[in-house]
Amino acid sequence: MDTRIFDYVIIGAGPAGLASAQYAARGGLLCVVLDASMSGGQVGQISDLENYPGLFPSQNGSDFMQKMKEQAEAFGAEIVEAFVSSIDKKDDTFIVTTRKTIYYAKALCIATGAVHTELGIPGEEKFQGRGVSYCAVCDGPFFAGKKIFVVGGGDSACSEATFLTNISDDVTIIHRRDSFRAQKAVVEKMLNAGVKPLYDTVVREVLGENKLEWLMLEDLKTGKVTEVPADALFIFTGMVPKTSLVDMLPKDDAGYIITDENMMTAMPGLFVAGDVRSKPFRQIVTAVNDGAIAAHAAQKFLEK
Ligand SMILES: Cc1cc2nc3c(=O)[nH]c(=O)nc-3n(C[C@H](O)[C@H](O)[C@H](O)COP(=O)(O)OP(=O)(O)OC[C@H]3O[C@@H](n4cnc5c(N)ncnc54)[C@H](O)[C@@H]3O)c2cc1C
Repeated sequence: MDTRIFDYVIIGAGPAGLASAQYAARGGLLCVVLDASMSGGQVGQISDLENYPGLFPSQNGSDFMQKMKEQAEAFGAEIVEAFVSSIDKKDDTFIVTTRKTIYYAKALCIATGAVHTELGIPGEEKFQGRGVSYCAVCDGPFFAGKKIFVVGGGDSACSEATFLTNISDDVTIIHRRDSFRAQKAVVEKMLNAGVKPLYDTVVREVLGENKLEWLMLEDLKTGKVTEVPADALFIFTGMVPKTSLVDMLPKDDAGYIITDENMMTAMPGLFVAGDVRSKPFRQIVTAVNDGAIAAHAAQKFLEK
């Protein structure tokens, strides 16, 4: 097993991790970012990123993350594709284990983000990759001109439903309440794009032979159950934080890791940034904010 020593190790190359790397490297820290997939984190799923300040006109999420990566590397950060299986601390040194290499550092940043939740209904797992998807950018093009359904009521669901109207003119969004919780402008754009809303409705089951063919829907107001023909179901109903590497840290009721305003956790030298952290608003701009603050605080911590 190789061993390598850095000042600052960051786990996760989403916007929080890459912003932290850029600030740390530019500030003179020897810094590495480890990421299991290198696909840009959740931003890799965004078809049209239109709310990042200064990024105008809008851009594809993957292209934006490629630029962030290049910028961090230009300042001297190293970015390595590697899944981190565990972290440990001995005296004042963190030990970060990947399949090929063990990394040592005095400061560590967890920027592991969040992953989508599943509906947990019959047929959902069976038809994943055969009609059921959690990523419109990745799988939308397979359903050109087809009957597409989206589930959810937040920003992600409404934005991705809008994106899917570029692929099919038959897009319906199913929401269990009578109004969307997404930002007003996002909802208006979706409705103007021709997405059909189905309020007060839930998906009870995904049905088909070898691929998704019907959805069983329940009208929550009347209790009426119907089966509707469908080719695709895109699910955007929420996220869960990826905290398994640091299960020992204090978390809020929803499972997000608690930090102070410097992104420092209860363990000295251990910082947390981005969607995995307890905070009121999870966006790219807030992830980037966390990453920059964590790098700055890590630098101060190491100077001590
Ligand atoms: C469909 C969708 C649309 C969205 N649209 C917008 C939008 O329009 N505007 C906006 O501002 N925000 C949007 N968001 C939210 C935004 O993408 C997130 O707030 C942001 O990506 C959070 O960044 P992050 O760096 O904290 O985490 P993530 O982007 O989740 O990145 C975390 C990274 O950590 C890596 N990782 C996790 N565990 C390990 C491990 N053990 N070892 C190695 N690597 C690991 C993952 O591979 C991943 O690359 C959207 C999200 C989704 C899902």
